[in-house]
Amino acid sequence: MSIRISFEVFPPKDAAGLAQLTTALARLQRLEPWFVSVTYGAGGSSRERSFEAIHAAVTSGATVAAHLTCVGQPVDEIDRVLDEYTKLGVERVVALRGDPPDGVGAPYRAHPDGYQRTADLVAAAKRRGVLDVAVSAYPERHPHSPSDDHDLDVLAEKVDAGADRAITQMFFDNDLYFRLVERARHRGIAIPVAPGIFPIHSFPAVARFAERCGASIPHAVADRFAGLDGDAAATHEVAADVATEQIRELAANGVDHVHMYTLNRSELALAVCDRLGIRPLQAAS
Ligand code: FAD
Repeated sequence: MSIRISFEVFPPKDAAGLAQLTTALARLQRLEPWFVSVTYGAGGSSRERSFEAIHAAVTSGATVAAHLTCVGQPVDEIDRVLDEYTKLGVERVVALRGDPPDGVGAPYRAHPDGYQRTADLVAAAKRRGVLDVAVSAYPERHPHSPSDDHDLDVLAEKVDAGADRAITQMFFDNDLYFRLVERARHRGIAIPVAPGIFPIHSFPAVARFAERCGASIPHAVADRFAGLDGDAAATHEVAADVATEQIRELAANGVDHVHMYTLNRSELALAVCDRLGIRPLQAAS
């Protein structure tokens, strides 16, 4: 199967988490991913941890896409982060709005001196010479969005500002993704839209997270995890099968790049890639 894989990791909270991330990055890098994206947390210590994670990813040899959000920061602070990325040799950015500090349920207010729209951040990144700017897209609509059309309007603004690609929120029903892409193409949005694949490492945890993100889990998927709570080995097998089947169907319908959420663990990503025929490079002897 000819499909490009990228992985997403997040900044760990402590030294043990950083060690786990470093091990995962080393294993994932042997699959030669297209890039590894590192999520961003606005605010002092979160931002420092984002930089630590970016550093770990760069050190692993990965091509890094560094996320950056608008929320809670004035323009000059965000521009300084963009400059730091450039200094670290990071040429890819995932430009996002971010969530209010009180959580996704709270109303969003742009910083008075900040980028007011995600499209403004996209334009700023492109002006500063960022090679590849990715943005978000939502197969099931952003939880705050008044309509599917509004979602597409926001995506179109980001594309007009220079976005090179979109990466979707997690979804578990490929028809939702196909529908999003069809509607985007109809709207004249031509950039690649990479499906965001979230292997279900723990059904209860992923179900809670998916609900917060507005992503639904079809009964057909939920049923496959029934009775497996607490059985890590069985969950691993089913999760790898489910994600592999999802990616195979996407690939059969012309998708040539998927972005996999890893939660800083390599085991499931490796198992899915193995089932897809994407195998680690052999270590030099
Ligand atoms: P936008 O693209 O600006 O908007 C998304 C949608 O929200 C729009 O389509 C629109 O319908 C609706 N919307 C936006 N503004 C308004 C408004 N004022 N009124 C009504 N509706 C509105 N968060 C982080 O903090 N750090 C990360 O690293 C990070 N990485 C992510 C990566 C991906 C691939 C995705 C899908 C999400 C990520 N997020 C991250 C979460 C993201 O910040 C939230 O989903 C946030 O609520 C929206 O950001 P956005 O860039 O998608 O917003």
